[in-house]
Amino acid sequence: MNKNVSTPPESMKSVSMEELNIRIINIKKHLDKRLLILGHHYQTDDVIRHADERGDSFALAKIASQTDAEYIVFCGVHFMAETADIITSANQKVFIPDVTAGCFLADCARSDDVEDAWEEIRSAGSFRTIPITYVNSSAELKAFCGKNGGLVCTSSNAGAAIDWAFERGQKVFFFPDQHLGRNTAFNMGIPLNEMILWDPEEPLGGNSIEAIRNARVILWDGFCIVHLEFNAEYVNILRKQDPSVNVIVHPECNFEVAQTADYMGSTAYIIKMIEQSPAGSHWAVATEKNLVNRLKKQHPDKRIEILQSFEPYCKSMAQITVLNLAHQLEQLSQGNLVNQVIVDKKYRKEALTALNRMLELKI
Ligand code: SF4
Repeated sequence: MNKNVSTPPESMKSVSMEELNIRIINIKKHLDKRLLILGHHYQTDDVIRHADERGDSFALAKIASQTDAEYIVFCGVHFMAETADIITSANQKVFIPDVTAGCFLADCARSDDVEDAWEEIRSAGSFRTIPITYVNSSAELKAFCGKNGGLVCTSSNAGAAIDWAFERGQKVFFFPDQHLGRNTAFNMGIPLNEMILWDPEEPLGGNSIEAIRNARVILWDGFCIVHLEFNAEYVNILRKQDPSVNVIVHPECNFEVAQTADYMGSTAYIIKMIEQSPAGSHWAVATEKNLVNRLKKQHPDKRIEILQSFEPYCKSMAQITVLNLAHQLEQLSQGNLVNQVIVDKKYRKEALTALNRMLELKI
């Protein structure tokens, strides 16, 4: 256990929500420009109201790369805080109110397995393969991409990242999210029969040498447990009820859902599309419930619903609460730098190379 880790003490658990909010507001005033709180769109309303900036992974990574704040508190999941730590300067410190807030998707790709797959792909023939890691991945995998001529992408720039890779190589090795890779590559005109799935449990990822040689895109067998809750059958049900419904989905959804949707894009894209739509329009949205419910509240003149009969939500994102945010800030205001996220030195330089390649993409 990291001795830097701190959770709210028992005595704090009986403090009212109102009091916790007041404490957060007062500490923010006290720390002023020394502190920046970043909030991902999947955070609850209670937490995100305290964020100085909110956004998706891409927007938050950009903001982190541009701020001068000494303390950056990340209300999101661990890989996002790691990314912020890589991208900020040595005198800035990044914290997450619950260090155990991981990401199911990021955990789908272990670095050892990716390294093994890389060797097997390379031994299949002499072609240049460019690795791309979705930002939902460990710092170690970002460093792997930096070292091997690849880059990081988010759902906002996956297409540009794949273009970048094909300008430099013949194949793309995309991890950990197979759906983002497949949906994006297909929309760029790459047919499904030029993509293969890599199952790390199988020799050669479950493929023949010939299939590896012929593939243009090699997709890691990873997925987001939240976005996999959406299905194409439900789209058909909704369309029967209202043929005018606009179906908009996040690219972490499966291929069938993506194909039945009217629009597909990052959370930033989903927000923009709904904001710009006319009053009275009807939207069915396939992404995490906190964002969809917030959009619903912000646009009472539009009919917005989640693309499912229940509300898929991310348990990891929900680990950040007003209680642990208040505790985090109280500790910082007392000079206790708890829950700091520090990326191992041996990954920093190459991970930064891969992140900078992403930040330099023209989108
Ligand atoms: S919604 Fe999915 S991809 Fe996003 S943090 Fe949760 S598990 Fe990870």
